[in-house]
Amino acid sequence: MVSAIDQASLLGWYAQHQRDLPWRHTQDSWPILLSEILLQQTQVSRGTVFWQRLYKRYPTVQSMADSTEEEVLFLWQGAGYYSRARRLFQLSKVVCAGVSAGGFGGRMPTTAKELQTLPGVGPYTAAAVASIAHGEAVACVDGNVRRVMARQTAQAKPSDRSLQTWADASLWKVDAGNWNQAVMELGATVCTPRKPLCNRCAIRSSCTGIESPEMYPAPKVRPKKRVDLMCILLFDSNGFPHLEQRDTSGILAGMWGPAMAQELDVESLDYLGEVHHVLSHRDLHVRVWIGQIGKGVDPTTVPLSSLDHKVLALAGSSANK
Ligand code: SF4
Repeated sequence: MVSAIDQASLLGWYAQHQRDLPWRHTQDSWPILLSEILLQQTQVSRGTVFWQRLYKRYPTVQSMADSTEEEVLFLWQGAGYYSRARRLFQLSKVVCAGVSAGGFGGRMPTTAKELQTLPGVGPYTAAAVASIAHGEAVACVDGNVRRVMARQTAQAKPSDRSLQTWADASLWKVDAGNWNQAVMELGATVCTPRKPLCNRCAIRSSCTGIESPEMYPAPKVRPKKRVDLMCILLFDSNGFPHLEQRDTSGILAGMWGPAMAQELDVESLDYLGEVHHVLSHRDLHVRVWIGQIGKGVDPTTVPLSSLDHKVLALAGSSANK
């Protein structure tokens, strides 16, 4: 665990060197939750842009509950992992439902235990919101915390259990929100995956992995799965494509786009080309066929994923040749 001296040192470092991020200027749990969900799989610089866009439109959980899933998806365009947007919308509905209907009557839950009952909120997000917004003494464990812990204790493959034990034992309970953010900030900006800045590290005096930090933790090897898809892109006489809203399950659930599936009937259509798109666990290869249809949809009016934008761009570039 981190020694008592290092705890003070880390908190002092955090007070001085934390990045100025917009959600750090509030104690309101709604914008804090929004930031945590956005940053799950999005870099801070990009996440900040989407956070500003969403928070401007939805300053309260009620304002999102009064909106539509389609509008939330529309604003989420480009942030990726659209299931997060759908679950966030479901979360707003649950929070704003009446207590007799199993909701929270418009009040955001305050404890990690209650927060974990909401759609899309796992142990990490619940602990982050409960500690940062409400000061609950619960430790956060994410990828940054895992890296700091592995190096502090010189463990190549720390188990989830030992990681949680370390985080619980190290927690500065007096100010859990700042402590959690300080450990994560250290992992994000000093104890980085490559070339950590050990000479500037506030907890170096208790770090047992300092001589060869990059040995810890051992990288997780997760091969991407190749997925081959077919796509049919039909245009009307005005150049608008046929777009439809996808089912509520699958890779691009709820987003709009042209027909896309592993098997489609493409007889009588012209082959256009292939689009390659990488997701965190999948390597998508989309072969695109083109044809005509009576009436299409203006693509700027519906939520489209980055993959769908690439497919439309392929047609655009081919038309310009
Ligand atoms: S001394 Fe280096 S390896 Fe250890 S926690 Fe600090 S930055 Fe990470």
